[in-house]
Amino acid sequence: MNLTLHLTDGCNMNCAYCTREKQPLHMSEEVLEAACRLAFSGVGKPGLCFFGGEPLLREDMIYKAMDICAALAKETGQEPSYKMTTNGTLLTEAFLERARAEKMGIGLSFEGLAQDTCRQFADGRGSFAIVEEKAKLLLRYLPGTHAMMTIAPQAAPQYAASVKYLYGLGFRRMTATIAYGNKVHWTDEALGIVEEQLREIAAFYSEKLLAGKPFYFSPIDSKIRDLLAGYSPADRCHLGMRQMPVNTDGRIYACTQFIGDPDYCLGDVFHGLDRAKQIELSKREAIPETCRDCALRDRCTNSCGCLNRLETGNENQVSPLQCSYERMLIGLVDETADALYEKDPALFKKRFTK
Ligand code: SF4
Ligand code: SF4
Repeated sequence: MNLTLHLTDGCNMNCAYCTREKQPLHMSEEVLEAACRLAFSGVGKPGLCFFGGEPLLREDMIYKAMDICAALAKETGQEPSYKMTTNGTLLTEAFLERARAEKMGIGLSFEGLAQDTCRQFADGRGSFAIVEEKAKLLLRYLPGTHAMMTIAPQAAPQYAASVKYLYGLGFRRMTATIAYGNKVHWTDEALGIVEEQLREIAAFYSEKLLAGKPFYFSPIDSKIRDLLAGYSPADRCHLGMRQMPVNTDGRIYACTQFIGDPDYCLGDVFHGLDRAKQIELSKREAIPETCRDCALRDRCTNSCGCLNRLETGNENQVSPLQCSYERMLIGLVDETADALYEKDPALFKKRFTK
């Protein structure tokens, strides 16, 4: 079973678009141990994702979790896997030694040259200089690390330069999304800037691909793969099924945006999962009514209940922002895919159909 452990609701940063309510609440050792046991109790490989707030504020609990899991692995013969999403500011060599030994997959929230626009420390200082140093260190230990970008309107003009900067630093895997939620205020003009920037990024991406250089950029890669693999949105959104967040108090929820809502609580780490509720959620109609006749419905994030809830307060309602962004992105990705295929069909097939 895959669980995302919210080790703390605290964070040493105060990003402009952050949707987490920061509080001095931490997971107890009892909850942690029960969560580890639960991860080993289901079918499938046990997996833990360390999350927050900022999980490295509770580095001690990450070590504890891995020690508990090592003992459980001996008992059960099951090998656990670990992931972590971090702002990177508290990374140390000692931690990275252990993370490498445990084959931990790390996602570093880092927006490159745009970092200081939105990602400040809680006291207002910019975080670029420190995260740049930590990113270099991290790449030395774990070169496969993802850089995770969240582009808010005020950072949009630096989007393409930031992608190129991150590539230059050594990141070969990047995820990127626009910032959603009520702390960001998009205008048509700002979305137009994102489109221009994405065109520049697509040209950079194509150049690397055609030169045979490794580069994964999620907005382009995932849309091309989804098209070729014929996924439906319901395949992508696994509300309450594949990766469940565990709150600091031990309650399990369907997805991060639903934490605290009793209607989406799937049990707790001490008593296990409420299977009936999980099944009830899995049967929900994933595609919002307004999207059912849209030609892009199977390639769009419309069925992400978590994102819909963040944007509109309703898991079945897509916001106009999300719809505009998805239309723009899919159009641009299709142009990029056509051009790549025309230039080198064999390379295109190798890259996207395996
Ligand atoms: S680092 Fe993450 S949790 Fe902390 S303020 Fe930024 S977005 Fe929020
Ligand atoms: S592009 Fe808009 S209408 Fe079409 S599926 Fe996506 S959100 Fe729905």
